[in-house]
Amino acid sequence: MSKIHFQEKFESRHNGPSQVEVNEMLSALGVDAVDQLIDQTVPSQIRAKNALNLPAALSETAYLKRAKQIAEKNKVFKSYIGQGYYDVILPGVIQRNVFENPGWYTQYTPYQAEIAQGRLQALLNFQTVITDFTGLEIANASLLDEATAAAEAMFMLYSARKNKAANTFLVSEKAFPQTIDVLKTRAISFGIELKIASVSESNLTDDVFAVFLQYPLGDGSIIDYKAFADAVHAKGMTICVAADLMSLALLTPPGEWGADVVVGNSQRFGVPMGFGGPHAAFFATKDAYKRNIPGRIIGVTSDSNGNYALRMALQTREQHIRRDKASSNICTAQALLAIMASFYAVYHGPQGIKNIASRINDLAQLLDHAVQSLGYTQLNKTYFDTVRFELGEHAGSLKAEALNNEMNFNYNGTEVKISIDETTTFEDIQTITKVFAKIIGKTLSDVDFDAAEKAISSSIPAELVRQSAYLTHPIFNSYHSEHEMLRYIKSLEAKDLSLCHSMIPLGSCTMKLNATAEMVPVTWAQFGGLHPFAPLDQTSGYMQLIGELNDWLSEITGFAKMSFQPNSGAQGEYAGLMVIRAYHESRGDHNRNICLIPASAHGTNPASASMAGLKVVVVKCDDFGNIDVADLKAKAEEHAANLNSLMVTYPSTHGVFEESIIEICEIIHANGGQVYMDGANMNAQVGLTSPGHIGADVCHLNLHKTFCIPHGGGGPGMGPIGVAKHLVPFLPNHEVVETSGEEGIHAVSAAPFGSASILVISHAYIAMMGGDGLTNATKTAILNANYIKSRLENHYPVLYSGINGRCAHEMILDCRNFKNVGVEVADIAKRLMDYGFHAPTVSFPVAGTLMVEPTESESKAELDRFCDALIAIRQEIAAIESGEIDQTENVLKHAPHTAAVVTADEWTRSYSRQTAAYPLDYLKAHKFWPSVGRVNESQGDRTLICSCPSIEEYMEA
Ligand SMILES: *Cc1c(COP(=O)(O)O)cnc(C)c1O
Repeated sequence: MSKIHFQEKFESRHNGPSQVEVNEMLSALGVDAVDQLIDQTVPSQIRAKNALNLPAALSETAYLKRAKQIAEKNKVFKSYIGQGYYDVILPGVIQRNVFENPGWYTQYTPYQAEIAQGRLQALLNFQTVITDFTGLEIANASLLDEATAAAEAMFMLYSARKNKAANTFLVSEKAFPQTIDVLKTRAISFGIELKIASVSESNLTDDVFAVFLQYPLGDGSIIDYKAFADAVHAKGMTICVAADLMSLALLTPPGEWGADVVVGNSQRFGVPMGFGGPHAAFFATKDAYKRNIPGRIIGVTSDSNGNYALRMALQTREQHIRRDKASSNICTAQALLAIMASFYAVYHGPQGIKNIASRINDLAQLLDHAVQSLGYTQLNKTYFDTVRFELGEHAGSLKAEALNNEMNFNYNGTEVKISIDETTTFEDIQTITKVFAKIIGKTLSDVDFDAAEKAISSSIPAELVRQSAYLTHPIFNSYHSEHEMLRYIKSLEAKDLSLCHSMIPLGSCTMKLNATAEMVPVTWAQFGGLHPFAPLDQTSGYMQLIGELNDWLSEITGFAKMSFQPNSGAQGEYAGLMVIRAYHESRGDHNRNICLIPASAHGTNPASASMAGLKVVVVKCDDFGNIDVADLKAKAEEHAANLNSLMVTYPSTHGVFEESIIEICEIIHANGGQVYMDGANMNAQVGLTSPGHIGADVCHLNLHKTFCIPHGGGGPGMGPIGVAKHLVPFLPNHEVVETSGEEGIHAVSAAPFGSASILVISHAYIAMMGGDGLTNATKTAILNANYIKSRLENHYPVLYSGINGRCAHEMILDCRNFKNVGVEVADIAKRLMDYGFHAPTVSFPVAGTLMVEPTESESKAELDRFCDALIAIRQEIAAIESGEIDQTENVLKHAPHTAAVVTADEWTRSYSRQTAAYPLDYLKAHKFWPSVGRVNESQGDRTLICSCPSIEEYMEA
């Protein structure tokens, strides 16, 4: 059909600049064609020989049709599997206005607090929910999943243990198997012994440093641990409890009976199962551990006008500052999902949640009595939502009949476990009962539901019935009508700058377009409604999706196979290093524990290496930002006998394609090490070169950077790893669902395929771009970056560039000289807010600089607007340099300016209100107002408040 030639390409929607704009940018750069620029930028020795071999690009409509076909291969049965994942009712007002709303999902981690107060408040609400429900003092703003949260807790309690000779973590044998699997992985690197046993005092031997309990137990029953907890503490040991958040509405919170840490999943608070994720895990502990907590904590502080403001607190614990000494490697977490869970709590309030939990418990009891009346034995004397029946010879027939009725139960030998959730109805209980009746030749008419209902009393031990109040703060008691809720959500959203407003030029973070067509399938029931442990024959759609993505990403990375278990880039790093470790071990190399890491590496690299039990040796960088090859060679040779690996980011975090990368890989291999490539900068490689081609052995991809999963205000993400052939056998396995072979390492995530439901976003992106489209995206990203460089380099020195003076997909603007006149890089970052922009990455990888990454998705018009803003700010600095304007009393130091400040009756500043708020003309058409003035960074750390404060509390602090 050669006559029908117009076919709209998704590529032209994803890539920002029009052809006219591309030509304008090329002439600004003095090159004739994009390929000429690429030749000047990407070293010829690493260029891919062949074009990407991927299926032809699909239009948006064609993709959505295909995605529907794939989705329909998933069978959405009613899930009673439980074991940490439950079906939910996601309130429409949250689904549409948060989960499906780019105003919430396209934001970045709230480093720039003044334009992030909305999500900071929602995350503070989350922390309040968690501290209230767990009965502990302090909570973080989410971890990746329950199992990794448990592993973080194990490590924290291990590091803080009193008896340094103790190295055993006593784990309840009735903890969830996926959690135990992840604990095994984490224990290896530190020589921690896991004792998986019953939790009895006789097991509290002297070598135990802490105990891990599940509450309610994995089998659904509930034990009163109070006396045991006292015994643990009497021995100087500590306790971590994995708790079911919903159950805590009815049960005495673990914090009240002695838990030192409580972890769990907040999925039950309105977040779909999504075949394993994403969901926000929680981590709560005592105030005494506040400096040891993994991940992000939101805290209360005040702004420059003395008003209430929020920010991320105690960042000195985190990987980007403490590196290999960090409390964990967490960078991307699960912000969006924590925000959703917090809104669920806001919408339902304390009574609403209690009603939901009580209804779940009542229905579980109804089922218990109804099925018992048929003559079955129910094995849990106490329970919240899970009943357990002995089936004897009927096990097989029950399973078959349940499947006939499109229901999944949790089977274990001759026992069946059934977990009730928020979606369960009376009719569902009847259907389940009918199945139990049928297999023993009875019918529903044999069951007296009225009697069963009358028998409902309490299945929770009297001494464990919750007495304490929760969610008493007005925020959880004010927005229960949909209108109130809608407006509350929107009022917070309006405080946050997202990709809906302007480009977010964060270097290393790749804030590109998250296209609507990529997002649409995520909330389809056929992707959202699947339990991660659903029977394989119900998940063919997912298997196809994951299989295709595996093939495509293998082609893109030049590797043999991918693992989709890691939930973030940092988890990918950790997984990759553990795979390398297993490889060395398999060859009898038990001593290889040295990991070389360039000084410019991202903080997660050393933090992950340390988590993997490796010793970090830092390799120098030269004046051009490249790895100092001589230093690398010397250190590789010095440590040859113990060399484990090199972690290297490519192109480098300095935004340069190092010419020596192939040689670097060869040096490491020659000395017995493996090359771990940090793939965060893959956006500069796709289609032009690849980690496999360059010579790396493992690489993670941040699907939330290069492959269009939105950042969600600090997560979710996915960090799958690709490996060369020799490492394939060691890819992570999973206790419940086989994902690798016999030699595979233990699990790194709770779910076999991590946050599986968002994989569809990357699948969509690749399918709609095709090989050429992806390659063009890379080229456009490089073009956009070089265009910005050309516009800004006369105003700001650009640190580092390649041999032809080109940068890769990002560049570093040096702001250190402005310190001479008192201007800090933070002042520029804050002043950019007045111009309607989010700052580039501040002080990474070089202190006192800004790292700019435009991505391919920005048009030239947007790049120009951004450059105009930075140039105008440079002129503001010049006025200070010339002495025309005071060094302390100026528009930069007072930035950002709120509407309240600018419109106040009193105005005493040395510059005009116009200068403060509307310094460039484009702002008149559209102005984004920061909701608070400059936040006080130190106050919030001095007095840590990390749950919603009452007005009185806040005034006292
Ligand atoms: C973003 C980033 C990481 C960490 O990835 P997460 O997904 O946030 O854990 C690691 N290295 C580099 C260079 C990065 O930019």
